[in-house]
Amino acid sequence: MRILIVEDEVALAEALVQIFGKNKYIADACYDGVSGLDNALTDIYDVIVLDIMLPKMNGLDVLKNLRLNKITTPVILLTAKDEISDKVKGLDYGADDYLTKPFATEELLARIRSVYRRKENTICENVLSYDDISLNLSTYELTCGQNTVKLGLKEYSIMELFLKNKGRVISKENLIEKVWGYESDAEYNNVEVYISFIRKKLIHISSLVSIKTVRGVGYRLE
Ligand code: CA
Repeated sequence: MRILIVEDEVALAEALVQIFGKNKYIADACYDGVSGLDNALTDIYDVIVLDIMLPKMNGLDVLKNLRLNKITTPVILLTAKDEISDKVKGLDYGADDYLTKPFATEELLARIRSVYRRKENTICENVLSYDDISLNLSTYELTCGQNTVKLGLKEYSIMELFLKNKGRVISKENLIEKVWGYESDAEYNNVEVYISFIRKKLIHISSLVSIKTVRGVGYRLE
């Protein structure tokens, strides 16, 4: 398990790195909100321990930004103040748990194991499949056998639409509405570009599934 600690009390952050290390977790520490967000956006962590009061950007804004960017890594908030409003806001923004300082490290370790387990369980349920491919709705990964490729947000939304409408033809208008939104000025040409990206990725993971063009109508998974 890989853990990111975002905590400006350097002594505490370093102590946590040590403790996590002893528990065979890989841990990295950041000491302000901006670098914490940058690191968390890499999406390589299994759990993030995030302090609320941080220099440059506070923990709640870091969390909000992460969720806006579709990073679903479980977050445990740390708060020095026993303020209910921060906790409520944190949970609203998508925190998985919180802990009030000072806390026992055993309790933090237990919470980490618990949010991690919960995350693992949701991943198992959050998969759409068709023939030899499966799409993970949490990680945006498209898998065929041993091969996995990460999809961009638009590619993912398009694939999700195909997988929820197995075998059905989906028109370009429909794709624009569902993926780009009613208000968007996306054109057919944008759709074609993304379809070609996805086709390349399907070939890349050696899938037998392909996106067929149905002339004058749209596309269908085959
Ligand atoms: Ca702090």
